[in-house]
Amino acid sequence: MNQFRFSRRPDIGDKIRVSFEFFPPKSDEMEARLWDTVTRLEPLKPKFVSVTYGAGGSTRERTARTVKRILNETALTPAAHMTCVNAARHEVDEVIQEFAEMGVTRFVALRGDPAEGVGAAYRPHPDGYANGAELVGALKGVGDFDISVSAYPEKHPESPDFATDIDMLKRKVDNGATRAITQFFFDNDLYERYVERARRAGIYIPIVPGILPVHNFTQVANFSSRAGALVPAWLAERFDGLQKDPQTHALVASAVAAEQVLDLVERGVGDFHFYTMNRADLVFAICHMIGIRSHGAVAEAAGSAAA
Ligand code: FAD
Repeated sequence: MNQFRFSRRPDIGDKIRVSFEFFPPKSDEMEARLWDTVTRLEPLKPKFVSVTYGAGGSTRERTARTVKRILNETALTPAAHMTCVNAARHEVDEVIQEFAEMGVTRFVALRGDPAEGVGAAYRPHPDGYANGAELVGALKGVGDFDISVSAYPEKHPESPDFATDIDMLKRKVDNGATRAITQFFFDNDLYERYVERARRAGIYIPIVPGILPVHNFTQVANFSSRAGALVPAWLAERFDGLQKDPQTHALVASAVAAEQVLDLVERGVGDFHFYTMNRADLVFAICHMIGIRSHGAVAEAAGSAAA
């Protein structure tokens, strides 16, 4: 290791852009936690913050409310996630219109998972948009939005092979997607190989790595195979025995995420999307390490806490 590593340059923060993902809260308590998180992360000036859309449109109102509050009460630019699940085209079009009237200019367009849960067979609504690519087309028909779509470095679990997966990404780009955000992953080589595959297929939009700080390893391990992400043995080993030791778990999670992000910076990655899980601390620390600073807000907060 030497001081000339790219990630150690004093101006590294000027070369990196971040975005943060939140989910719409279900209760007053979760709402309070989300807004604490938003308040803490806002000074980091993310390029945008995105708000997820629950399976089968189950969070339609809550997603809209959260996006609206971000628009009204912060200087942040929100991106609204949308899915095609269990909705006819005219219903999806109505949601797009609602967001557009609110002033939303960024979307994350997804097919979504079946309402019965990840892993169940997906059946498009008979009058609905069949997949992410069709939804991108519908959005582009309404306005010149900035549209992010999904990408899967380990391929989507329903894809028979990488060629099918990359083909879907290409269709989304051809319909107007401006950026892909990846499913979370822990092996940076897989990400790099996926980007190479995409470039070989003539896909040139940014493919932004989605970073998941591991707040709860057991939950991540249970969810990951259904989401199309492998939990490597070395990662399981790092969290082994920490289920009842939250403090050490958090420290290890921070080290693991920092290691992944700094390695990606060394590989030339300049954009990162963080799955925050509506928690600020790990994401804030990782951003700090890559030079994304809050320009005094933290120092002031720390000062007032000490006073
Ligand atoms: P698409 O891009 O339409 O397809 C994904 C892949 O599945 C394709 O590559 C294709 O190869 C394969 N595939 C699809 N259909 C078939 C088929 N019939 N036969 C063979 N292969 C097929 N989910 C939510 O519910 N709400 C969210 O807010 C949300 N946000 C997300 C954000 C990001 C960045 C990511 C990566 C995922 C998100 N998801 C969300 C999860 C996503 O909805 C699921 O992964 C879903 O299973 C696929 O949606 P998609 O848009 O990726 O699908």
